[in-house]
Amino acid sequence: MASENPVLLIHCGTGSEIDPATREFFGALLPELSRLLRSMKALDLAVECVSRLEASGLFNAGRGAIAQSDGEVRRDAGMMDGASMKALGISQVRGVPKMARLVAALHGKSAHVHLAGSMVEQWAKKNGWPEAGTGGESGSDPTRLWSEEGGTGSGTVGCVVRDSAGHLAAVTSTGGIGRMWPGRIGDSPIVGGGFYADDTLGAISMTGVGEAILTSGGGVALLVALSLTPLCSGAEALSSRALDRLRQIQNRFSAETGCVGIGRGEPFFAHTSPRMIRGVVTLDRFLVADRA
Ligand code: ASP
Repeated sequence: MASENPVLLIHCGTGSEIDPATREFFGALLPELSRLLRSMKALDLAVECVSRLEASGLFNAGRGAIAQSDGEVRRDAGMMDGASMKALGISQVRGVPKMARLVAALHGKSAHVHLAGSMVEQWAKKNGWPEAGTGGESGSDPTRLWSEEGGTGSGTVGCVVRDSAGHLAAVTSTGGIGRMWPGRIGDSPIVGGGFYADDTLGAISMTGVGEAILTSGGGVALLVALSLTPLCSGAEALSSRALDRLRQIQNRFSAETGCVGIGRGEPFFAHTSPRMIRGVVTLDRFLVADRA
């Protein structure tokens, strides 16, 4: 289905706030993404966008990822192409700040939808990421996003895109949550959990406490709920319905969550955290905000 309305949405995690550094970063990034939206395919652009967010070091993903409770940085990422419905998540990878590029390099290489840990590191080491598998990464501050109260993280990054051919894609990348056990995997690299894209249903990238997201059915459950809600159309109605659903998660699990997505042909976003940085990019418009 061709689209005259390509659109890209970004989130930077529950609790993320716009400060001078992020404002400057998005001031340069968003116009460029708007230009790239003209010609790039959805999946390529979503990977490009998340790679830039990872490389900024401003968020809990890529260069800015926090460590697990043993002090090791292990990152997770996932991506899905809505046209082919090919998905892949990778988790527990050490020594690779460029996780979106790594998952893109592995995407479509096998029929598997999830690969974890040392075997991914070995593949990466042989294929252009010489630092893969190296432990004891420095530069990440395990206390920076380490909330003694809630133990939640913030600063996971995600992107959904509808390109000019009408195809959808989603990519999510994270360092996880604060105080997580070594080996813990959240929603972000799980297909249907932290990311999902299907041209006939929609695309979504989730953020927030992964345990609550996964046990409530993940991003795909939210997309299905939106698609089944009668008389729910338009960006505002979708965002408001998505917020209802995230509030249910909040009530049930006492966990803040957030999302950006495209459903029923319209972009939407929602978050139960007081703030969440999110950006919207079209061919002639771009804006970034961190609260309603
Ligand atoms: N969802 C991520 C995880 O559970 C964390 C986040 O989005 O803040 O690993």
